[in-house]
Amino acid sequence: MIELKNITAGYNRIEVLNNINLSFEKGTITTIIGKNGCGKTTLLKTASNILKPLSGEVIIDGKDISAFQGKELAKKLSFLPQTRNVPNITAYNLVMHGRYPYLGFSRTPKEEDREIVSKAVEVLNMEEYINKNVRRLSGGQSQKVYLAMILAQNTDVVFLDEPTIYLDINHKLEILEIIKRLKEMGKTIVMVLHDLSNALSYSDKVCLLEKGEVVICDTPEKVFESKEIDRVFNVKSTRIALDAEEQNQYVFCLKR
Ligand code: ADP
Repeated sequence: MIELKNITAGYNRIEVLNNINLSFEKGTITTIIGKNGCGKTTLLKTASNILKPLSGEVIIDGKDISAFQGKELAKKLSFLPQTRNVPNITAYNLVMHGRYPYLGFSRTPKEEDREIVSKAVEVLNMEEYINKNVRRLSGGQSQKVYLAMILAQNTDVVFLDEPTIYLDINHKLEILEIIKRLKEMGKTIVMVLHDLSNALSYSDKVCLLEKGEVVICDTPEKVFESKEIDRVFNVKSTRIALDAEEQNQYVFCLKR
């Protein structure tokens, strides 16, 4: 479990997040939503110790996050940023990067590291392109390679900033299903999504941010019913059941 207590955060002493109090439970998916510039990425960066808060505390396993050493923290939490410089290496080597916090001074992977990487490759079903250069992969394939790297890092807490950005509907749903599997392994997932409908369908909790403050953080049901999403984004929402077996589908359209 990870907790944000009275967090104020920002850049050059200018506040972007104001008095954030949130906790992310083990084995759940929490999705942060909100308009561009409201502070979603800043929240992920602060919760993962990339950005130091101006005030307040981030508590992980009962300890302040700043008390952990680099490698020690990298064994507890992983962060997949939205924009990345794609390295000029094979998919296999990128997945192996996930093992770096566990390697010794020589940085040579051991048999155990290779087994963990093979397992991640198998789970994500990416044997076909594992020896290709990451720069030659499609958006969906390269996103899976990054998720395999996160899987190989084997942390309890996983932060994902826009993991489905630029993907078509099938790849988007495939990535969301993989994230659901990470949760079923007992991991704590905190992610940012722009797609409101996906956010409500795939999360245990949805946190709506507005101008650096939490408007509501609750189950998708409760967030939907509050109509706060409609107010913040100036949209009209409805919910449809595809059939008796299916979960609800959420639809958002422009207010006219
Ligand atoms: P979101 O993820 O919701 O789009 P961000 O957290 O990226 O929002 O940004 C929130 C605010 O912080 C914006 O006004 C943005 O311009 C500002 N900001 C983000 N990153 C930086 C930075 N590195 N330096 C200064 N200001 C930043």
